[in-house]
Order: sequence, then structure tokens, then C-alpha cells
Amino acid sequence: MRDDRLSEKHVVITGAAQGIGRGIAIRAAEAGASLTLFDKKVDEVEETRELIQEVGTPVQIFNVDVSNRSEVLKGVNNAVENFGPIHGLVNNAGIQEAIPLLETVNDDFEDHFDVNVKGVFHCAKFVVQQMIDENIEGSIVNIASISAVKPYRSQGAYAASKAAVDALTTVMSKEWGQHGITANSINPGTVETPMVEEWLEQNAAQLNVTEEEFLEDVRGQHTIGRIGQPHEIGNVVVLLLSDEGDWMTGEAITIDGGFTNE
Ligand code: NAD
Repeated sequence: MRDDRLSEKHVVITGAAQGIGRGIAIRAAEAGASLTLFDKKVDEVEETRELIQEVGTPVQIFNVDVSNRSEVLKGVNNAVENFGPIHGLVNNAGIQEAIPLLETVNDDFEDHFDVNVKGVFHCAKFVVQQMIDENIEGSIVNIASISAVKPYRSQGAYAASKAAVDALTTVMSKEWGQHGITANSINPGTVETPMVEEWLEQNAAQLNVTEEEFLEDVRGQHTIGRIGQPHEIGNVVVLLLSDEGDWMTGEAITIDGGFTNE
């Protein structure tokens, strides 16, 4: 699917080395965006770069840990120096560990909130400051999760962090709307990625079932009868980053194959 909806835009995508972030990056490239990709997984993000180069749009990658404020600041400055002002930011980087509540410790909350919440905050703060300085009516898209509203077991720290992302997004939309900047979050259902492979493994072990049995149960909880693919999140992200999304802000958009209705 190719179009030019993002052809004049420079978009930063975090956590683009694999999974949903890679799917979003490919869709944004197919829509013509110039891309800056942040990740900690150097080899895997290099693979994403090669896939983008096949599409043919400009792409640069930086080794950035989004939970580290100074690394984010440096990454944003480098992004602007090479590719010019940033028009869109996709805060996709995230972590998840499946831990029953009685086994959850303080560090589990810190780890999830450092990446999933503070990482979103650091990236948005530095990108939006340059949007305001450059008079750019940009778009912020935060990848939260359907777990923010309908969590599974063993998602205490993760689900709480994703609910925080939805709340933070509302505040972003209210404070930055006066500058023409939109902020929306996306709450995906279960999408086939390395994170979900690990989640299936951890849950199957905790419930004493096979991974296939657990996955079958998960599939059955989606009206469409299957889990999602990364590009299916990317399709909606492209809309939000494009001028077509200019009047959408402050929304938590569910893309879940009907999971919340079951
Ligand atoms: P994934 O683990 O497959 O990929 C996550 C990427 O983020 C990896 O490349 C990882 O290196 C990167 N990352 C992690 N911590 C980072 C950090 N501190 N700094 C920079 N990069 C970092 O995960 P995924 O399934 O593709 O999920 C992507 C996002 O979507 C996450 O925020 C996740 O919580 C969310 N999500 C996923 C699903 C799903 O079913 N896969 C559902 C709902 C929400």
C-alpha cells in the first residue's frame, strides 16, 4: 500500500527494531515519511533500516534508551540536525513482564514506568518543544495497550503503566492543542510480535497449559478470530500522523479485532 500522505514529513519512531514499531516504520515509509528510528537493539534496528531502504525513503537510526533523559535529548537533537524539523512522533518503545501481583516487587513497577511512561514523556517533551519553536503543527501518537482498560492476569505493573499512558496523552492534547499539536494514544489488542511470544510463554507456564492452548484461548477472545499484525496498527498511525488526522486529538483509539466487545 503506497501513497504520499507523509511525503513532506519527518517522523521519529521509538522501539522500531522489531514488532509493532517496525510495522509502523514500514507503513510510514510507504506513505513517504523521512524516518528517524530510536531503539536499544542495534542489530535489529539495522534490519529495520534495510527494510526501509528497500521502500526508498530517507532513514536514520540512533541507539537511544527512551528511559534515559539525556540520551533522548541527544537523539532528538541529532534527528533534527540531519533531517530537519520533526513533524510526528510515535512513542512505541515498551516492555512487558507477566508477573502475578503477589510476586510483583517495587522494581517491576519502576522498570515498567521508566520505559512505558517516563520514556513517552521524555520523547514527547523534547520533540514538542522543537515543534513549538519551529511553529510546526505536529502529531504525537503514543502506543498504550488495551490492557489499560481490559487487562489480563499478571499484567499489574504493565497495565497500570499503559493506563498512565492514556491519561498522559489526554494531558498532552489539552496543553499542546493551542499550538495545533495533536496527541492520541492507540490501545492495541494482541498483536503478533516478539513481546507477545514471550508473554504467551510466560502465561502458559504460569497456567500450566501449552502455549498453543493459551493462544487459542486468546484468539477466541477476539471477535475477528485472530490476533493482529504490526502493519494493522501502522495503518491507523499513518492516518494520525497525516493531515487527515488534524482534527483528532485526545483520543484513546482501540484497535483490537473486537477484543473489548467480547
Ligand atoms: P517488542 O518487545 O516486540 O518490541 C518493543 C521494541 O521496543 C523493541 O525493539 C525494544 O528493543 C524496544 N525498547 C524496549 N525498551 C526500550 C527502551 N528503553 N529504549 C528504546 N527502545 C526500547 O514489543 P511490541 O509487541 O512490538 O510492542 C510495541 C509497543 O506496543 C509496546 O509499547 C507494547 O507495550 C505495545 N503493545 C503491544 C501489544 C502486542 O500485542 N504486541 C499490545 C498492546 C500494546
